[in-house]
Amino acid sequence: MADFFFESVTEKKRPYVAPLRHLLGKFRYPFAPGDSVGIKLHWGEKGNKSYLPPDYAGEISHWLIAQGAKPFIFDTTVLYSGGRHTAEDSLKTAAAHGYTPEFLGCPVVIADGMDGRNVVSIPAGYKHFETVQVGNVFDKAQGFVIFSHFKGHMVSLFGGSIKNISMGFASRAQKQRMHSDYHPILNKKKCTRCGLCTEICPTKAASISEPDYPVYDLKKCIGCAQCIAMCQESALKIFWDSDMTVFQEKLIETAAAVWKKIQDKSIVINSLMNITVECDCLAGKNPVISKDIGFIGGYHPVEVDEESLKMAGADIFEKVHPGIPWQRQFSYAREIDF
Ligand code: SF4
Ligand code: SF4
Repeated sequence: MADFFFESVTEKKRPYVAPLRHLLGKFRYPFAPGDSVGIKLHWGEKGNKSYLPPDYAGEISHWLIAQGAKPFIFDTTVLYSGGRHTAEDSLKTAAAHGYTPEFLGCPVVIADGMDGRNVVSIPAGYKHFETVQVGNVFDKAQGFVIFSHFKGHMVSLFGGSIKNISMGFASRAQKQRMHSDYHPILNKKKCTRCGLCTEICPTKAASISEPDYPVYDLKKCIGCAQCIAMCQESALKIFWDSDMTVFQEKLIETAAAVWKKIQDKSIVINSLMNITVECDCLAGKNPVISKDIGFIGGYHPVEVDEESLKMAGADIFEKVHPGIPWQRQFSYAREIDF
């Protein structure tokens, strides 16, 4: 039986800190004194206007501290250019959005490391992924709070806790693997011929000989995405696979693999407020498509996302993102026993 609870927002002014405090009080507290607890969230792309304000993360952090835990807040770097492509830029963006250790009372961390290489492969054993590669945050934390802004998304229809665990924990290479089946295509105008892609290519598919540009042997290429993800110049592009059902399944597989690892000591919270057309990865103002609803807490990301979608109504997202087979996320989650 689903195990979740809800706190509505009735105040006229954001941020809704008191309702979140009430919600936190309803959890069966899973952490032990002294536990290091990672709070996974998204502090918004540079220039984004709809990200969750740091007041909520601060409330969660202080709730954990009051019970003897040692929280830290984290996210991972992203593929696209902007204010979160590198760890350094992402921390600057976090600080600009108010996510500072001083305000939050705890450290702010980039899980995949300052160079994007602090990653680890964990077992998956599903049809798309035998393993998934994620930021290596597991040694740092005994437990997790998955705190997500529930809103629309152009490829998955909605983004909540499933997406926060899946894309949110994923290394840049894993993000690429989820997004497409692809071959690297070089934009010579951007390439500095630094050779990094050839150094990191696991199959020697990428090679370079001075003074030429790198070349990619597609017979050897396994589509691991490492070169595209790691090129600091964004000189490599992907061939986009438009099969949306595969994307939904890959999203679920990555989340399920992470969840298997963290489920014993994790709680999940979705914030149904400032529900926008698109995710907080986009810069600029994002149209709001629903009134503020409240917070949903629980112990499983699929349950909490399903309930969030019911409360907000799938139709508000389907109007702005027609044709996405989002139902596959839930049917596939059941098939693989997520
Ligand atoms: S890593 Fe990027 S910039 Fe460097 S050689 Fe490869 S494609 Fe060019
Ligand atoms: S995708 Fe992976 S295997 Fe293919 S060229 Fe890039 S690093 Fe090498």
